[in-house]
Amino acid sequence: MTIYIEAVVNVPIRRSFRPQVAPPPDETGADDTAALQTFHYHLPPDLESAVVPGHLVWVPFGAQELQAVVVRRTDAAPVATKAILRLARPEPVLTTHQLDLAIWIADTYVAPFSEAVRLFLPPGLLTKQGEKAGVRVRREVRIALAVPPVQARDRLLFLGRDTGQTRALAWLMAHGGDEPVAQAELMAACNLRSPSAIQALAKRGVVALENRQVRLLADQASARDVLLMLRGADKYEPVIDVLASAGTPLWKHELYAATPATLAMLRELERAGVVELREEIFERNPLSGRTYLTTQAPVLTSEQAAVWARVYQAGYAADGGQGFLLHGVTGSGKTEIYLRAIAETLARGRQAIVLVPEIALTPQTVTRFAGRFPDRVTVIHSELSAGERYDVWRGIRDGRYDVVIGPRSALFAPMPRLGLIVLDEEHESTYKQSAEEWGSYKVFYDARAVAQRLAALTGSVLIFGSATPSLESYLAAESGELLLLEMPRRVMGHRVTAAGEEVEYAELPPVEIVDMRQELRAGNRSIFSRSLSSQLMLTMEAHEQAILFLNRRGTNTFIMCRDCGHVEECKRCEVPLTYHEASGRLLCHHCDRAYPVPAECPVCHSKRIRFFGAGTERIEEAVKEILPQARVLRWDADTTGRKGSHETIMAAFAAHEADILVGTQMIAKGLDLPMVTLVGVVAADVGLFLPDFRSSERTFQLLTQVAGRAGRSQRGGRVIIQSYRPDHYVIQAAALHDYAGFYAREMQFRREHGYPPIRRLARLIFWEKRPDVARREAERMAAVLRSRVDAMGLAGEGITLLGPAPAFFERYRGYYRWQILVRAPEPAAILRGLDIPFGWRVDIDPTSML
Ligand code: ADP
Ligand code: ZN
Ligand code: ZN
Repeated sequence: MTIYIEAVVNVPIRRSFRPQVAPPPDETGADDTAALQTFHYHLPPDLESAVVPGHLVWVPFGAQELQAVVVRRTDAAPVATKAILRLARPEPVLTTHQLDLAIWIADTYVAPFSEAVRLFLPPGLLTKQGEKAGVRVRREVRIALAVPPVQARDRLLFLGRDTGQTRALAWLMAHGGDEPVAQAELMAACNLRSPSAIQALAKRGVVALENRQVRLLADQASARDVLLMLRGADKYEPVIDVLASAGTPLWKHELYAATPATLAMLRELERAGVVELREEIFERNPLSGRTYLTTQAPVLTSEQAAVWARVYQAGYAADGGQGFLLHGVTGSGKTEIYLRAIAETLARGRQAIVLVPEIALTPQTVTRFAGRFPDRVTVIHSELSAGERYDVWRGIRDGRYDVVIGPRSALFAPMPRLGLIVLDEEHESTYKQSAEEWGSYKVFYDARAVAQRLAALTGSVLIFGSATPSLESYLAAESGELLLLEMPRRVMGHRVTAAGEEVEYAELPPVEIVDMRQELRAGNRSIFSRSLSSQLMLTMEAHEQAILFLNRRGTNTFIMCRDCGHVEECKRCEVPLTYHEASGRLLCHHCDRAYPVPAECPVCHSKRIRFFGAGTERIEEAVKEILPQARVLRWDADTTGRKGSHETIMAAFAAHEADILVGTQMIAKGLDLPMVTLVGVVAADVGLFLPDFRSSERTFQLLTQVAGRAGRSQRGGRVIIQSYRPDHYVIQAAALHDYAGFYAREMQFRREHGYPPIRRLARLIFWEKRPDVARREAERMAAVLRSRVDAMGLAGEGITLLGPAPAFFERYRGYYRWQILVRAPEPAAILRGLDIPFGWRVDIDPTSML
């Protein structure tokens, strides 16, 4: 009987779906071939048993040969089939769980299945160009000592030039002792025709020549050194030394880095039987070359112990993937809980994936994990070369690592025995593949949802951790979907016990809100309030450090009254209006209505109503004005272009090479700096008035995270938040470290407007270079969607279509971007089966509306 397979072929398929009358696929979508866009082939007899789901194979496709991923084996095919050509790789490239997950992703995010599959493969694996880009094993020469080090060193004495001097010296060392030898005897023994070689040795002071008697002057060790030098073999010595002290074979490049060795020298050593050269597969590991201090688990605080006991009982003692939301303030010791969970997972023979928002910003985190689990940790991130990524992928698949740390894409690591998934800082927007990002992305997945699915498929424990959980996750915890764990107190991290006593908890830093309207009224026109400038001065005097934070997103986009804090909003949508330079008008990005720029504040009639925000450079200048001697370090997108510069800047600041760090979003993350005692938020309102219903949530998260950078040691610390809207609930809640208060208030707002997590959204974004075409296509699609909702009989079922309207960041790299929002209980159901032309991006559950 012929065996058939269904395979995903690696061809760019038009981003559309065959019209589909059938109901949307069931939860797994496993039987919906149409949505999967697979092709049928049959297996030639010799491959019948070898090919399984997950295999990468070569198939005929039209006139071409292409690679394809096998999705399943079947007994029949609906069409006449061709045979597959051969296996591309002996091992499957996807596990069964991964295939299931890919199907779920394609279905949930209304994305082509082939694109979902691609998420799991190292970049370039499917393409021929991939080979050139280093997506293949790298072979390299490895050097091992062929004999024990002592013997190896002795053999060196026979390498290099053979001269009269070397023969004479070697003979003396072998026969010498202190007894003199007759010159004639030595000459005969060493086949010397004249005594000149002996005289030369005497000149060097190695031997004494008296009355035609020759005596060795140097001790054995020094004589040996001279001999090696005379033979020109001393250059080999470091090679032996480095190999001997390494104790294991070394790669050629490692040896080159540590010694002056050349390939010719290595060949010479090989001929002398000193070393062996062997070509082996060299596995590129991003963590190699770094050494991590092995650390021990500390005794848990009482809060940690209670939390760990619950994780253990509900997650490990009981079977099968419980999910947790660990809500702990910054510095409450959440990472320690993750480390315990990993230890427990490894002890059970299983493996862990740890997601961090942005790995380049969190080298400290990697250090902590690598130090606790030496040699079992690897990292995945975008700065790795294609070759490194390929090797990490292979290493993981072959079980060489048990812990993978990385950004959202680390979820797709081919762990054979996954048992734990951790998402640190789960509220971070980087967990969602952004639809605004430049690139050929087609699957805008949310790592939180994918992680939950993966945990369910693999029976893994799942831990979301955050000081400011996303509303989605907190709601899931309230409804019992995730188990809520709370750690409201901060661990005294740097127990520099001045009095010799141990302190378990530290206070969260006090937060002062400064009303910037008052500052204006008092005649202070500086960017710094009186309070912030005097605190900056005190911090300098105490030789401590300060962080000045600026929210970049939102600078110069909205219009605010400096006297009363009023912000212009759309009358219809109640979202802040955005200034558009081209038209000189204010625009609503939800409904596209335009408004004139007001000459005076409609509330208090002040003329001081204008754009808001200043860049980091301006802040740096302002610091120089009040503290000319302060050393200021700027950290923003401009200053961190180069690879590794995050780490450099962070290290410089940690080493107290600067007094004040001025930066944007980035500094909110993961820094643990004991000398920082002051954090100033220069303009807390920036970001609060973006036309995105999540702007309050984002601003609350940012303010809380930034505030968490102060007072990490016993020096204590303080936070100053400058605001024109000091009474705003976001500012108030952040100042009081009051998550619960914020959550209640924000959920009320979401409920009133039917925003997520109450209802779900989909966002369709169209990219096009010609503005008129962009608008027309957006209008066409909106009309199609409206009639589709009607045709499906869903009109009035809590479904709203908003737009089309230009996106907030309307122009981007020469493209105009228009968007349509679909608000519905299940927006993907409306979009599945829709013909979606090239240029559209479908973003299900978008986390940004900008
Ligand atoms: P979070 O991840 O919640 O921000 P961390 O795990 O980074 O918190 O902990 C904050 C600081 O407290 C770190 O310096 C960490 O080493 C320290 N710490 C955490 N737990 C303990 C513990 N049980 N004993 C001693 N120090 C701890
Ligand atoms: Zn006003
Ligand atoms: Zn509007």
